[in-house]
Amino acid sequence: MTKKIVVLGSLNVDSIMKMPRMPLVGETMALTDVTTAPGGKGANQAVAAARQGAQVAFIGAVGQDNNGHFMRQTLADQAVDVTAIQTNATVPTGSAYIMLQDNGANTILIHGGANQALTVDDLDEELIAQADTLIAQFEVPLAVITAAFKMAKAHNVQTVLNPAPAVYEVTPTLANLTDIILPNETEAQLLTGITVENDLAVLNQVSDAILATGVARSIITLGEAGSFIADGANRWWAKPKKVAAVDTTAAGDTFIGTLASELAADFSNLVDAVDRASTASAIAVTRPGAIPSIPTREEVDQF
Ligand code: ATP
Repeated sequence: MTKKIVVLGSLNVDSIMKMPRMPLVGETMALTDVTTAPGGKGANQAVAAARQGAQVAFIGAVGQDNNGHFMRQTLADQAVDVTAIQTNATVPTGSAYIMLQDNGANTILIHGGANQALTVDDLDEELIAQADTLIAQFEVPLAVITAAFKMAKAHNVQTVLNPAPAVYEVTPTLANLTDIILPNETEAQLLTGITVENDLAVLNQVSDAILATGVARSIITLGEAGSFIADGANRWWAKPKKVAAVDTTAAGDTFIGTLASELAADFSNLVDAVDRASTASAIAVTRPGAIPSIPTREEVDQF
């Protein structure tokens, strides 16, 4: 049975600016290259789920501009249902400016634009009600996420929360509406105040603190160290798949989209779903870019 997923999230156009080093204040400096790419955690996660074969619909907003058309078309090309994406006539489509230095270090500036102007009235309750799973990140307003999760739970829809970037606190209300939370190392640290280390005792302690907020399950993604799963007292460390990483952009988004597309309604296959998510994200890190790096279902099967 095809899994139905609704992603509530951001649509950004990324400008990737390559430069030898960061400019000094007041300096004018030439870029070595500049490219444009579709982005936003919401968009990446929607594409990841769609490439795994899920039926995906998107709730979000763009501006009335070329970037908005570009983002809508990017998702439509991946068979994502874009009918619930709003067009905001007063603010531009979200954008991100990625300053990539020759040494590989990057600095990112984001303008939320239409993503931040999304309101509770933009939510399509009927669309959420017919889904198996609702996914959200922290690039749209917290009030909208909370309202959407309330709708989801009222209709028995699974909720997956990626608290990224860590700009909001996970309120007790939101925590209690969340079936699975997926922070990365940094976000887990900000959520709990505990320094995350790749150590079993520490990861258990961090997971205990996360579950104590009222969230049912937690998966902390640990980059090249894999991920740590807490489903009540049941804990395990999913080791990463061995690959030669070239670009980790969208690794987390690929993990989340894949996991959501695999999860059974009763979470009984969590071990297998995490394993597939680990494979998909490992493939993604072997390729450059965000959306272009996300693998298809066949590629995950063949790995
Ligand atoms: P990003 O912001 O770059 O999308 P993230 O910080 O949200 O990433 P990570 O924890 O870095 O997410 O990575 C998500 C998952 O991707 C990890 O749990 C792991 O399974 C996989 N992964 C990441 N880096 C590697 C790697 N070098 N080798 C194998 N798997 C990796």
